[in-house]
Amino acid sequence: LLQLSAPLNFIGFVYREIRQGLTDIEQMFDLLEVKAEVNDAPNAAELRIGQGAISFKDVHFAYDAARPILKGISFDVPAGKTVAVVGPSGAGKSTLSRLLYRFYDIQGGTITVDGQDIRTVTQKSLRSVIGMVPQDTVLFNDTVAYNIRYGRTSASDGEVFAAAEVAQIAHFIETLPEGFETKVGERGLKLSGGEKQRVAIARTILKAPPILILDEATSALDTTTEREIQTALDVVSKNRTTLVIAHRLSTVIGADEIIVLKSGEIAERGTHAALLERNGLYASMWNRQREATQAEEHLKQVRESD
Ligand code: ATP
Repeated sequence: LLQLSAPLNFIGFVYREIRQGLTDIEQMFDLLEVKAEVNDAPNAAELRIGQGAISFKDVHFAYDAARPILKGISFDVPAGKTVAVVGPSGAGKSTLSRLLYRFYDIQGGTITVDGQDIRTVTQKSLRSVIGMVPQDTVLFNDTVAYNIRYGRTSASDGEVFAAAEVAQIAHFIETLPEGFETKVGERGLKLSGGEKQRVAIARTILKAPPILILDEATSALDTTTEREIQTALDVVSKNRTTLVIAHRLSTVIGADEIIVLKSGEIAERGTHAALLERNGLYASMWNRQREATQAEEHLKQVRESD
């Protein structure tokens, strides 16, 4: 009997292991399903890209049904223009950029690119025309050159260097121990937020997409870095349809239109000058940020004179 029960126990053990394995697999599929929320329509066409005009019409969206995030948002980014979205934390600003890239499908309204509903085209063709500079760029554990060239793998060394120059990062790269061949990422040299963002900009310059989504980092940058990034962005966004999720004054001031988002609704919209004139939410945000910048610079002066 003893001889028999041992294998039976063993079989029980194996059975439980398999059961456990199955639940893990089920959970894994649940997770995958969350990730693969968006599928190509069965007859999805290739996006026919022209000038890259973007239109959000009465867009409704919630990550989970119980909590609406966007409640009927309408705005256009005309071809070649720049629209900046500002507003309090949690207003739904980054969500707009994720929806344009079609990480999620909307529950109401339409998002179109050059007049085509983005749900009717292949994700691949949509994403191929959009350059995304995210808040926090994840770098590959590879060389700086590799990370930049990822924007267009056929780019020559000369083109990689030129892109780095436009992105205001070439000079910094040349100071690294092995220049463009320096390994970066989690297992290599760790770059600062501002440096990573400039690598992402260089990558986007190589990709040269008609549409640009820029999700600015919330973290404060020093004035020099901010100016360098702004210079780089002015070059990339020139003649490109650009949607900026803005946290910094420098980006907002030059935008063709500013959308002030609050709790998933458009509270105000207009140019920088018009919104200041209005003396509403935007004006108070702007004044607060200006005061913070002034205080910071004052503090720096005090420190330097010590
Ligand atoms: P910030 O300025 O702080 O970056 P934001 O305006 O960009 O804020 P979003 O990132 O668009 O805000 O988020 C809007 C709301 O949606 C937030 O309340 C956030 O908690 C929620 N949210 C964001 N991503 C998810 C997600 N993947 N699942 C569920 N809720 C989410």
